[in-house]
Amino acid sequence: MPKTEDVFTKLAELETLRKQAVRALLKDRRAVDRHLAKLGHAGGVAVRKAAKRFCSICGKSGHNSRTCPLAKVKKSA
Ligand SMILES: [Zn+2]
Repeated sequence: MPKTEDVFTKLAELETLRKQAVRALLKDRRAVDRHLAKLGHAGGVAVRKAAKRFCSICGKSGHNSRTCPLAKVKKSA
């Protein structure tokens, strides 16, 4: 059985490695996105942003609360 302190030390080391790996991958992704943009493929970035954002009024993606069709209906009513 490993000592509890050793486990915590290992976990901290793993967390550091994890963060380093994430940073490296994000850096790679930015480079890939730049290359894709140079090749005329800018869709990947836009698609990812659209997929993450959801309208706060109706909960659908593809628009925000300002451009929500439901918001227009509420204002005119
Ligand atoms: Zn909406």
